[in-house]
Amino acid sequence: RALRVGLTGGIGTGKSTVARLLIEHGAGVVDADAIAREVLAPGSKGLAEAAAAFGDGILAADGSLDRAALASRVFGDAAARARLDAITLPRIAELAAYRLEAVSPGGVAVYDVPLLVESGIADLFDCVIVVEASRETRLARLARRGMDEADSLRRIAAQASDAQRRCLADIVLPNDRDERELADAVARLWEDRLEPALP
Ligand code: ATP
Repeated sequence: RALRVGLTGGIGTGKSTVARLLIEHGAGVVDADAIAREVLAPGSKGLAEAAAAFGDGILAADGSLDRAALASRVFGDAAARARLDAITLPRIAELAAYRLEAVSPGGVAVYDVPLLVESGIADLFDCVIVVEASRETRLARLARRGMDEADSLRRIAAQASDAQRRCLADIVLPNDRDERELADAVARLWEDRLEPALP
């Protein structure tokens, strides 16, 4: 079976860049955001269950999910949020496990997941890598992408904290220096930690 690696990090830490570097070493990568969309895709059992729970108001005219309507339905309502999670999370875990095996049979299979802490699926992984960068670095990177500071700070505050991510981390990968240093660190990580851990 594959070595299942959860890869997470707060916004602007460089998680997606690390995922790309891991692909260069031969890893397969599964995008958690795509899996989360898939379990509520048109015609899926997940979407039917969500519509039964929250009403047809969460559906667009063409029968697909109206994400904004669902988001406003669960926003600030912990019980509704829990009901939605009960529908989506088991499906996400099952589909993720399947895709991770398929993307890199017997190799390193990476799950690129911004909200690892929040989605409670850490059990799925043999190993969790957390990418970290200082707040200043993250703000500078997000600014280069055109995000203003207030918006960046709001998004950072809305995610799990570094400390929470660290509690789940087997490996912490600092990314405050240039891309060259990051590439070197990922190469070392591959050789020293991931390859030797292959089942
Ligand atoms: P998000 O959660 O917003 O997708 P992310 O953590 O996946 O963020 P990336 O998209 O990988 O972050 O990186 C954010 C930006 O910072 C990108 O423009 C990327 O090219 C740049 N970046 C990442 N690592 C470095 C680095 N070590 N040096 C310079 N720029 C970097």
